[in-house]
Amino acid sequence: MPDVAIIGGGIIGLTSAYHLARGGASVAVYDRGDFGKEASWAGAGILPPGNPDRAAMSIDKLRGIGSQRFAAFSAELRDLTGIDNGYRRCGGIEFLTAEDADVPGVWAAEGISFEHLSASEARKLEPLGEAEGESYLIPGFAQVRNPWHMRALVAACAKLGVRLYPNTGAERFADGALVLANEERVTAGRYLLAAGAWSANLLRAPGVFPVRGQIALLRGASCSRVLMLGKRYLVPRGDGLTLVGSTEEPEAGFEKRTTPEGVAELLAFARRTVPALASAALEASWAGLRPGSPDGSPFIGPVPGWDNVFVAAGHFRAGVQLSIGTAQVVCELLTGKPTSVALEAFALDRKPEANVKSAFRS
Ligand SMILES: Cc1cc2nc3c(=O)[nH]c(=O)nc-3n(C[C@H](O)[C@H](O)[C@H](O)COP(=O)(O)OP(=O)(O)OC[C@H]3O[C@@H](n4cnc5c(N)ncnc54)[C@H](O)[C@@H]3O)c2cc1C
Repeated sequence: MPDVAIIGGGIIGLTSAYHLARGGASVAVYDRGDFGKEASWAGAGILPPGNPDRAAMSIDKLRGIGSQRFAAFSAELRDLTGIDNGYRRCGGIEFLTAEDADVPGVWAAEGISFEHLSASEARKLEPLGEAEGESYLIPGFAQVRNPWHMRALVAACAKLGVRLYPNTGAERFADGALVLANEERVTAGRYLLAAGAWSANLLRAPGVFPVRGQIALLRGASCSRVLMLGKRYLVPRGDGLTLVGSTEEPEAGFEKRTTPEGVAELLAFARRTVPALASAALEASWAGLRPGSPDGSPFIGPVPGWDNVFVAAGHFRAGVQLSIGTAQVVCELLTGKPTSVALEAFALDRKPEANVKSAFRS
């Protein structure tokens, strides 16, 4: 009987498993498919900067923990597994329109370095075409290659003795046990539900829902920093590839596929923003299902009605950047310690506030 059974082997489940195992817990992770092949595989891997000591909101504190620890965590995974997750601090430029005029104040309060750029200064740094809004250079933006990071996480968990059960879906909790899709019963000291967009099925309560995002990958000359324009962005991979994201389609439900319109919209955005991409070849495109929540914040904490079931799901557009902070508080929660970040804003039974305005959108 493991100390902790985790349902869902995406970035949230596996980062939590890794940290729990490193702390001495015996851990088993169950995934209904392959590990790390859903939203955590599909994402763009943008890691905005942050500062947990100065951030005002809990979600920004989790982002700050991720920002501060991602470089060291990446090195730790590489040392343990030999797999490079592609983490690099590439810098970014944010373009803000009038409705986000208050955002630089949030960055300043957190102590994030940024510099306002005139349009000509921005053009000297990047081969820009049309880019609406005021531009801000933010050197602390970083990125990770999601599929590489997930491979490293799976290998690191295996090295630490985490028991990994792929193709083993969980169905429900009953009589203190987890019932698998094949009706086998698993008992554990504690359970962590980290099944991404599918988590509501096991909670048997609404809350988390899928929000499809499509991505296009281009090969050709491009920008050198992450360019963020509202919900759209360009992420140069540094090897001739540029990722263009992303659509936001809650109406698509669980239909994980690209559409000709979605990809065409992304290509038009890329060519408008960096005209040199007009001659870039479309290398690939894909879609993923973000785990959405009513107010955009994740659910992290105990599941009411059970004394040993916890949830960590609903990380929406930010599960990669929030993964290390989430794993940290999950470890604290599951080992009975006070959490280093207040969890009220993440409670399952919270009243959803009007959309929480975070300092970064991805
Ligand atoms: C297009 C796109 C771009 C994104 N860009 C970024 C970005 O730049 N930066 C960032 O921080 N975030 C980004 N995100 C968001 C981020 O990818 C997600 O928030 C994060 O991956 C969620 O991780 P997860 O582990 O909760 O879910 P998932 O990765 O979806 O993992 C959930 C796992 O649970 C398993 N599962 C489901 N049901 C069951 C069951 N019944 N039993 C067992 N297993 C089950 C699934 O098979 C899956 O492996 C992006 C997402 C998308 C789609």
